[in-house]
Amino acid sequence: MLKPSLRKKTAKRNAIELEHNRLTSLINSMADAVIAVDANLKVAIYNASALNILDSNQDITGKPLGSVLKPIDKDGLAIDMADFVAKTTRPTTNRDLLLKYSDGSQINLYISVAPVHLGYGAGGDQGYVVLMRDITQEKSLEEERDEFISVVSHELRTPVAITEGEISNAEFIVKKHAKKGSDTKVLQALDEAHKQILFLADMINDLSTLSRAERGVLQIESEQINIYDFLHELKDNYHQDAAAKGLTLKAQYPAKSLKVTTSRLYLREILQNFITNAIKYTEKGSVTLSAAASGKNGVSISVADTGIGLGKSDQQKIFDKFYRVEDYHTKSVKGTGLGLYVTKKLINLLDAKVDVNSRPGHGSIFTLTIANTPDKKK
Ligand code: ADP
Repeated sequence: MLKPSLRKKTAKRNAIELEHNRLTSLINSMADAVIAVDANLKVAIYNASALNILDSNQDITGKPLGSVLKPIDKDGLAIDMADFVAKTTRPTTNRDLLLKYSDGSQINLYISVAPVHLGYGAGGDQGYVVLMRDITQEKSLEEERDEFISVVSHELRTPVAITEGEISNAEFIVKKHAKKGSDTKVLQALDEAHKQILFLADMINDLSTLSRAERGVLQIESEQINIYDFLHELKDNYHQDAAAKGLTLKAQYPAKSLKVTTSRLYLREILQNFITNAIKYTEKGSVTLSAAASGKNGVSISVADTGIGLGKSDQQKIFDKFYRVEDYHTKSVKGTGLGLYVTKKLINLLDAKVDVNSRPGHGSIFTLTIANTPDKKK
């Protein structure tokens, strides 16, 4: 007969064992690979799918994570998993790594790393859970889709540009030969056709940049850009569009010496999007371009408008794909909801960040900040 205290202990041990077995069978039945590591990044728990994805049949308990999981990036460079995981302070995912096997084949990997309290060692040490999935098929479908969009948008560009030019010509001719009061219907029709074709051209442009950004084939060619000259150029390019809506395009120029090293093409594309939006979503007042030094060597460039503004929750969502604010002001303006999504992709590509400061009815300020550290690899 067991002593009551001993019986209690045995019951507790059994309960813990049961719980442990439950958890083990739970993670073993998961299709995703799971590896839990302790604070020293040594494997504490793993499931059958983990061995599957690592193409191994050896016990990996206690082994350093960096020695069992050795992914590479798309350029074939080895990724130090120990470093990757140790830097993780909040759940992080990555869909761009690959795993290469000894026979030369490789898979696209989805990796999610989350810091957790595993309860190992004294005081329940911190650990990490690494979750992995083979996303080779998904990736190849995504690539096919992006490739398709890229080809289609490329093919559409020329006919749309020609049609746009022809409609412009027709408008010009009708205007020139129009007798007073007559031909207004023809002009109206041409004007509408022109607006629609310009919208189509914008959409094709966005789709094309988007598919290139998603395929990661956008090349960054950095150069030193004088911000004073750059703002001048932008103002020259857009003051007519602003004036056509009765708006003033102003600039608060920075010191003539202010420079940044980045891609001129993408910087222009990002700011053009902010400026065209500022003009689109402002009924009266002005659009102001400004720039200033930021941090040690960085630069921030802002586009401020006196337009319809944005509520807090919309400010989070406007960079989502196809998102357009649900109100009559926005609905009365043509748009695809793709511009800022593409812009955000380009901003990420330049390692820059964007801040939105806005209030409904009080205008918006979009600020782009680019850190300009000399040793930034580009
Ligand atoms: P769209 O083609 O609709 O302009 P964007 O992705 O460029 O697409 O912008 C997404 C949405 O963000 C717009 O539909 C609009 O609701 C809002 N938005 C963007 N810029 C501004 C701005 N300067 N002022 C107010 N709303 C804006």
